[in-house]
Amino acid sequence: MSVLEQINSEDAIALEDTHGAHNYHPLPVVLNRGEGVYVWDVEGKKYYDFLSAYSAVNQGHCHPKIVGAMTEQARTLTLTSRAFYNDRLGQFEKYATETFHFDKLLPMNTGAEAVETALKICRKWAYEKKGIPENQAQIVVCTNNFHGRTTTIISFSNDPIARKNFGPYTEGFLKIEYDNLNALEEALENNKNVAGFLVEPIQGEAGVFVPSEGYLKSAKDLCEKHNVLFIADEVQTGIARTGRLLATCGNCSCPDKHCSGTPEVKPDILILGKALSGGAYPVSAVLANDPIMGVIRPGNHGSTFGGNPIAAAVGMAALAVVKDEKLAQNAFELGELFRQEMNHFISTCNLVTKVRGKGLLNAILINDTEDSSTAWDICMALKENGLLAKPTHGNIIRFAPPLVMTRGQLLDCIRIITDTLRQFEK
Ligand SMILES: *Cc1c(COP(=O)(O)O)cnc(C)c1O
Repeated sequence: MSVLEQINSEDAIALEDTHGAHNYHPLPVVLNRGEGVYVWDVEGKKYYDFLSAYSAVNQGHCHPKIVGAMTEQARTLTLTSRAFYNDRLGQFEKYATETFHFDKLLPMNTGAEAVETALKICRKWAYEKKGIPENQAQIVVCTNNFHGRTTTIISFSNDPIARKNFGPYTEGFLKIEYDNLNALEEALENNKNVAGFLVEPIQGEAGVFVPSEGYLKSAKDLCEKHNVLFIADEVQTGIARTGRLLATCGNCSCPDKHCSGTPEVKPDILILGKALSGGAYPVSAVLANDPIMGVIRPGNHGSTFGGNPIAAAVGMAALAVVKDEKLAQNAFELGELFRQEMNHFISTCNLVTKVRGKGLLNAILINDTEDSSTAWDICMALKENGLLAKPTHGNIIRFAPPLVMTRGQLLDCIRIITDTLRQFEK
């Protein structure tokens, strides 16, 4: 018998409010079931999920192949720690490194841990391979970044809410403007101890900020020129979200190429998380080639749960689903349709000023002040109308449905979104 009771929304919210830390501000909806692009609340109301758990559920809720792999493994062997080998990890590592064209993978659990791992690898590489004097390595990061919540990561955030009163902060980071090649060039030329450049191919949390055409490629070229590692945080943009297997795959327009996994801009270190799990179980990973990953030796780094057999089985199934169901291609095509329809709507409506994004990672900008509640109010109305989305920063609403969505479902969603926005027109 279950120790959990069937409860209504009001009681569930009250319980969290009373007994849980208030580290989130959720939309007042209590979900208890999900399937594909849909979730249901405890009263049985059905919604389109337009957040996908911040792009962790790209493969859709409770994908049978992912749940199948997870439950089968859960009945067999769940955790060994890395003190011993397990029969799943190596197979996952082979599959993932072949998929993304890297020599080696280091498994972790959450996105933030994978970012931390990448930073540690980069620093160690700097001292042992590049010859930077001890404790002098600098890593260049961008303003308005989001890379997670650990003490080191928030040390180089410029979001006061994420950062204030959590000091003292970790040193060794240089902040430059995102999407500004001159700033990067200057940082690399003026500081000889730069070891890496950590960047999101699209800034998701900042409000789906897409950099200029060619920015990533030129940034990579600058890094190569200065022997600096290009570290791509694809925790949110990776695994087909932006219409390609990785956002660093560049701007090719042939749908067939979107799933090839051959990056136009090949990062030196690739960070994956979120959808590497299909939303089922935490899985993250850092990928790099031997000359870089080789600096990590036994005892240097690890995690009790990292690389556990369930995570390995889930990660492999999550990637297989993306390939088998051509989700990159679907995200590419539906993304084009979404922005086309939204642009059409925007031309007739003064409430929304812009739609931007790639693939199915998109956002709309609401024509109101940063501190207004309009975006939140719109998300509340969308909820009433059967679609769940969340504001990012102030007046920006992110739209990121599961990639298993059909064209018909997306058109239905666009109708819900535009009808709802009309209600707010002045
Ligand atoms: C979500 C996210 C992270 C952190 O992942 P967690 O699993 O929440 O620790 C890191 N980088 C980016 C770009 C993200 O979107």
